[in-house]
Amino acid sequence: MNKSEPITGECFCGNITYQIAGSLQDPRSCHCSRCRKAFSSQASAYALVNPNEFTWLSGEHLLTSYVGKDGFGLQFCKICGSTLCGIHKGIVHGITLGCVNGNPDIELGMHIYVGSKASWETIPDGIPQYEEGPPKQPQ
Ligand SMILES: [Zn+2]
Ligand SMILES: [Zn+2]
Repeated sequence: MNKSEPITGECFCGNITYQIAGSLQDPRSCHCSRCRKAFSSQASAYALVNPNEFTWLSGEHLLTSYVGKDGFGLQFCKICGSTLCGIHKGIVHGITLGCVNGNPDIELGMHIYVGSKASWETIPDGIPQYEEGPPKQPQ
């Protein structure tokens, strides 16, 4: 993969597109009951971005948001309902991996909150699993 090519993503209907000038960080899948609802799926698949490297290319006016009391929220396409990104105080800090195009050159690094996963889900082996949140990083 050509490292100078930015990562791009788009919603299901294609009206909203974005690009990320840098790389995705901390790709993880969270199996908690809140993420299952928020992502309408067995788990989230999410990675962090440097907010300065994230740009909407089209359709930004079609975004709608859900923001919780803590200031963290998600943004969706008004037309097709895809969940595109996570925001904190209005600033994009992460993206849903399902909306990323092609190969962003990362792999899921951890499954978190597997202690509250759905009864019907079997998580594949080979990636670290944590009953709750990720272990605290040194420093
Ligand atoms: Zn859409
Ligand atoms: Zn979660």
